[in-house]
Amino acid sequence: MPTPPNRTPEDPAQGHPSVSAEALSISRFDTPTTARSPDRERTDLPRRLALTAVIALCSTGGFALGGMVGGALGLGTLATSFVGLLGALGLGALPLVAVRLVGSPAPQTDEVALRELLGEGSEACLWTWDPRSDEAWFSSRWGAAFGFTPEASSPVHSWSVRLHPADRGGFEEEVERVLSGESEHFEHVHRLLVRQDRHRWVRVRAAAYRDPEGQVTRLAGSVLDVTERHHAEAKLTHGAFHDPLTELPNRALFLDRVLHAIARARRDTSHRFAVLHMDLDRFAMVNDSLGHRQGDQLLIQLSRRLLACVRPGDTVARLAGDEFTLLLEPLENREQAEEVADRLSEALRPPFEVGGRSFVLTASFGIAMSGSNYVSAGEILRDADTAKNEAKSDGTGSTRLFDSQMHRDLLETVEMEGMLREALEQKHLRVEYQPIVDARTLVVTGYEALVRWTHPLRGGMQPSYFVPLAEKNGLIEEIGLYVLRESCEFLATWSDRRSMNVNLSPRQFKSESLVRDVAQVLADTGIEPELLRFELTETSVMDDEERSARIIRELRELGVRLCIDDFGTGYSSLLTLHRFPIDVLKIDKEFVHGMDTESPGIVRTIIDLGRSMGMQTVAEGVETEEQREILRELGCDRLQGFLFSRAVPSAIADDLASNPSWDVRALRDLSAG
Ligand code: C2E
Ligand code: MG
Ligand code: MG
Repeated sequence: MPTPPNRTPEDPAQGHPSVSAEALSISRFDTPTTARSPDRERTDLPRRLALTAVIALCSTGGFALGGMVGGALGLGTLATSFVGLLGALGLGALPLVAVRLVGSPAPQTDEVALRELLGEGSEACLWTWDPRSDEAWFSSRWGAAFGFTPEASSPVHSWSVRLHPADRGGFEEEVERVLSGESEHFEHVHRLLVRQDRHRWVRVRAAAYRDPEGQVTRLAGSVLDVTERHHAEAKLTHGAFHDPLTELPNRALFLDRVLHAIARARRDTSHRFAVLHMDLDRFAMVNDSLGHRQGDQLLIQLSRRLLACVRPGDTVARLAGDEFTLLLEPLENREQAEEVADRLSEALRPPFEVGGRSFVLTASFGIAMSGSNYVSAGEILRDADTAKNEAKSDGTGSTRLFDSQMHRDLLETVEMEGMLREALEQKHLRVEYQPIVDARTLVVTGYEALVRWTHPLRGGMQPSYFVPLAEKNGLIEEIGLYVLRESCEFLATWSDRRSMNVNLSPRQFKSESLVRDVAQVLADTGIEPELLRFELTETSVMDDEERSARIIRELRELGVRLCIDDFGTGYSSLLTLHRFPIDVLKIDKEFVHGMDTESPGIVRTIIDLGRSMGMQTVAEGVETEEQREILRELGCDRLQGFLFSRAVPSAIADDLASNPSWDVRALRDLSAG
């Protein structure tokens, strides 16, 4: 067993035994010490058994002989037994005297043979080492296993020169722990230079034998090649903490590093760091058009660009899909984090070449700085994510720093989510109906169902506030189904043919259960399907055109009609929309309100195009007589707005249909015109 190279076993000042004369040769390993070693006990055993057997034989013989002598002399039974006992003692003692005189056989030959035998039979390479003399023995397997055998007379040197420099420190500490008595057992895994200049991972194990003073007089143990096992373990560990596609740290490793950064910042308040959350804008679209395999190639290219933008101590991780995070540590100030975000944006600028095509990517960045009493890694990551979502809503390619207002908003959002969930459970939501009228006759032709929520303490909540929230957390699917069922049940009570418009949010529209749910509600209520009209936004339809086309087709097959809501505010072009079987265009109220001050240009265009494509047009947000008049003249089919009525409960909605308050004057005007 080698000792650390700077230690000389002969030097008593270093606290290790100096070489004794008797320890100089390997054949004298077992020179008697006052204590009996377990080895010694074991090698003596056959001898002792043999001796005991001889003593037993001699004693029995002695007893018989004494008995015979007693009998010949005519002694009594007791006296004869006594003479027998004397004979037994006399003859029984003979072998002991003989052994004393001749001396015990030398144990060395047995031990060497035994060691060689063990060495042959063992899978591991065996060794023994006397730290006092620095003499060692190595079993014969060494040559075959490692291509070298440490020199018995200089094991320290021949081992230490082969030890990997990075492993030497730990190894020396372990040796020291055993020699100093801190530990009885030695175990260390390190790299050893073996044949062809290659390092192998070996596990060295040993037990120490000490003299009564506690000095180690021998270490004996084994060396096993564990390279394959080590690599397999390393691979497993790597796999558990890295993303298999990009080889970047994964979420688990990233969170662990952030946690360490938090702990460090708590110990040392001058230590600052930042977590940067990055999200590719519209990567899903790129991925869809490229296919997933090519999309993966793009992500690999991207990860290399990201790595090129950071310092060696920073961490770039891939959490999922196109979500990447960075831990920037240490940092002086937040400007440095913003500079990194700028560098990353810049690095994305050159197009990515994948599958023979070029793609330009932009990303949104959210930054959370250390120092806001973060305790868990999840908290700071969540804040960076919130800032990133803000950045995303600012538009493509922007960066936002998490601030306390966002924090308050976040708390508010969390609170609202809880309240909304409760409202849904306790049936505090209800549906109201806003009439849609014929632009010429002003007769109510149908309604738009709009969800309403009155909180017991906060009062009426705006759908424009809580619907997007429900969209984000998924509650919209439940809310949407409630509105659909409620409004269809209301529709089922009418005797005339009025229609019912129901809004579908993007998430509802994408939901796999939508078509099934609609079919179920139609069957349950028995309404005429074509009276039910779903309002979709342009963005919903355009997001994944193929999927949208399928869902729209399936809905149409059920017999329901489809409208595009808030038309003109999204990105669609009428030409693209024309590919979908849409029945109605609802002109956004902003355009209708704009008609007051500007010419009706855009509204006229929408109405004309809608008509040319066979679509009905409905103007939303009609508030004034002037607007109504212009829209009627432009040929708009239907009108909806506060001029007629706000959304009202079902009972009032019914009254409005049979006796509309606006009806009398308007109809008179119309008939006069
Ligand atoms: P939307 O679908 O465009 O609904 C029309 C909105 O315009 C309603 O707002 C309505 O009250 C309002 N409005 C109607 N006439 C006028 C007018 O003359 N002037 C003005 N200024 N506004 C008018 P509301 O009820 O606040 O709903 C806002 C949005 O929330 C809706 O816009 C819709 O996108 C969403 N929403 C409402 N109910 C539901 C629902 O049940 N499901 C889904 N998915 N979304 C809903
Ligand atoms: Mg609507
Ligand atoms: Mg609308």
